[in-house]
Amino acid sequence: MKIETIAIHAGNKIDSASKAVIQPISLSTTFERGADGGFPGGYIYTRADNPNRSSLEQVLYQLEGGADACAFSSGNAAGGCVFQALEPGSHIIAPADMYHGLRNQINEVFKGIHEVTYADMTDLPAVEKALRPSTKLIWIETPSNPLLKITDIKALVEIARKNNIMVACDNTFATPLFQRPLELGCDLVMHSTTKYLGGHSDVLGGALITREKNDFWKRIRSIQELSGAVPSPLDCYLTVRGIKTFPYRMRAHAANAQKIAHYLHEHPNVERVYYPGLEGHPGHDIVMQQMHGSGGMLSFLVKGGITQALKVANNVKIFTQATSLGGVESLLEHRASIEGPGTKTPQNLLRVSVGIENADDLIADLDQALKLT
Ligand SMILES: *Cc1c(COP(=O)(O)O)cnc(C)c1O
Repeated sequence: MKIETIAIHAGNKIDSASKAVIQPISLSTTFERGADGGFPGGYIYTRADNPNRSSLEQVLYQLEGGADACAFSSGNAAGGCVFQALEPGSHIIAPADMYHGLRNQINEVFKGIHEVTYADMTDLPAVEKALRPSTKLIWIETPSNPLLKITDIKALVEIARKNNIMVACDNTFATPLFQRPLELGCDLVMHSTTKYLGGHSDVLGGALITREKNDFWKRIRSIQELSGAVPSPLDCYLTVRGIKTFPYRMRAHAANAQKIAHYLHEHPNVERVYYPGLEGHPGHDIVMQQMHGSGGMLSFLVKGGITQALKVANNVKIFTQATSLGGVESLLEHRASIEGPGTKTPQNLLRVSVGIENADDLIADLDQALKLT
């Protein structure tokens, strides 16, 4: 089946009692046992599993072409589960340009448990140099946040395989419509389903998807249940509902982003645009090989430093000045101030989550906001 069909049908069960076409929300935390002490419905207790969660997990692993999926209450819980599953004392190589919430989690929650080296994932010799005998995991994020850096997934997997190291890819920005890391050899894919998969900025969630049901995956499944950072049935329902239209939304996000990137690229008050779909973007040749679209995220540098950048952020009217991404509505944010002290993000950088409004309206809004004197 193709992705549009999977997105709508995978995991959806017609209710056997009422024949409801859309699976009901099963709020029950517990499930009746049979006379023999068994569990005839297949469920025991909602922290362990729930009908809505299993439907969500089924659609997720099929979208990524994996063997299984675990759903979590947030993207950070999903990422954190991978770090929890590693043996204490493991060395992790993570991207220098990385979602700050996961970087902070490694630095603060796993401090004293694991060791980490941040490497420029676009510089593969630098990644090889960072390898240690204790390296167990290479974490990648491509395109990365917020600089849209591109990692050559196949080449990186080759390095990892030679050294018996797992590769996990945060595929939140690209989504399975545009990039399929498991097919390129990654062991795990991570998502913040809060973003494009949910797609409506109304439900937090995360997921891990595995290429193989191996021992490491068994550990992840066990941590999901025992640590209990699981999504509620309503969260699962909303995410499943969002996923049904995700391929179509995603194409609209990408088409709008491409137009806006070209517009910004020509603008005299813009110093630089970061968008994987621009020919001059570093790694654009890799994009053409490993991606099927350039996504809906872009960043740009405003000429004149932080003052002018903040003016633009305050001038927009259709774009909302807010963090997060992947919803139908366009968002724009001054990234350095959300990342806080210690950020390496340029002070004049604005990050844009391009929504699926009319592209001409969005460009007109940016046009008025960029009229700086
Ligand atoms: C938002 C995000 C996360 C974290 O997900 P939450 O659902 O907010 O916990 C991780 N990685 C990327 C790339 C993200 O954009």
